[in-house]
Amino acid sequence: MITDANVAPLHAAPLASTLGVPDGDLLVIAPGEASKTRAEWARLTDAMLDRGFGRDSAVVAVGGGVVGDLAGFVAATYMRGVPVIQVPTTLLAMIDAAVGGKTGVDTHAGKNLVGAFHHPAAVVADPSVLGTLPEWELRNGLAEALKHALITSRDELGWLVGHAGEVVTPAKATSAAMGELVVRNVRVKAGVVSRDEREGGLRKMLNFGHTIGHAIEAAAAYGMPHGACVAVGMYVEARIAEMTGVARAGFAPTVAAALDALGLARVPAVPVPAAVVAALTHGDKKARGSRAEYALLHDVGEPAAADSGYSMPVDDSVVARALAECLAG
Ligand code: ADP
Ligand code: ZN
Repeated sequence: MITDANVAPLHAAPLASTLGVPDGDLLVIAPGEASKTRAEWARLTDAMLDRGFGRDSAVVAVGGGVVGDLAGFVAATYMRGVPVIQVPTTLLAMIDAAVGGKTGVDTHAGKNLVGAFHHPAAVVADPSVLGTLPEWELRNGLAEALKHALITSRDELGWLVGHAGEVVTPAKATSAAMGELVVRNVRVKAGVVSRDEREGGLRKMLNFGHTIGHAIEAAAAYGMPHGACVAVGMYVEARIAEMTGVARAGFAPTVAAALDALGLARVPAVPVPAAVVAALTHGDKKARGSRAEYALLHDVGEPAAADSGYSMPVDDSVVARALAECLAG
């Protein structure tokens, strides 16, 4: 069982004892993205080799996206691949990272640049563990949940906004709505991913809000949570879609209202200059040439550019205008 130092005492140690996993077989990493390295992959792999684990072993990953990605990659490569059971303990990991089979580590050149597709043998998501999450970490998940609703349908969006009050704080972890939120989002993500496992096209629609979101994350020197950056990114990209005539007028206000309902800010908490964000859109993996690629929507539930793989280039001048307008508040 692999976990991090925050989750170990809260959830992993009790689970290990229930499952009869010996203390020595609970491997703990330091919390945070900084642990997603080849060095940690080697340390965990060596720890398993030292304990004599064979091809008939399995890895149980208990934690957020960092643990899931790293432990998943350990499982993907250990003796050419052993099963992994993902036990996500953040909302973000339950509805996003644990579905889709992506595993990997970061390198000096960027995040997730070394990895493998390795589908979990099972994903066990128990919403009651969300009760111990810090507030900002729950918000990370809510931002992706909003993205899922926006790319799917007005029904999904209506459900999410209508139940916002029952899912916005960790204190609501055991509400019926929190359970349904996880189920609805896993259904959306699994639906997209199962139709497009290797990112040929459809899966790109999951990048909505992320070209700008990733640029803001980099502009804020990774001092702002991913979900907070994606929340701002969805609004800016909705404005880009309106400005280019891709989205119907009124789409951006719909996104703004949903962000408000979920307690997600539309303006970055850390001030980031529009010009810096604009320049960083080109650092994105998706960028080609001098125009970055965007997964835009015509409206709620209507992803644009189906014939070009749900991804379209947008002129820098439009991006600069949208950023200048939105980041000013
Ligand atoms: P994410 O799932 O958002 O990609 P991480 O794996 O980095 O990200 O987890 C975010 C933080 O939340 C980490 O500090 C992790 O230790 C902590 N964490 C994960 N699950 C829980 C939980 N159920 N209760 C409290 N803290 C948790
Ligand atoms: Zn994301």
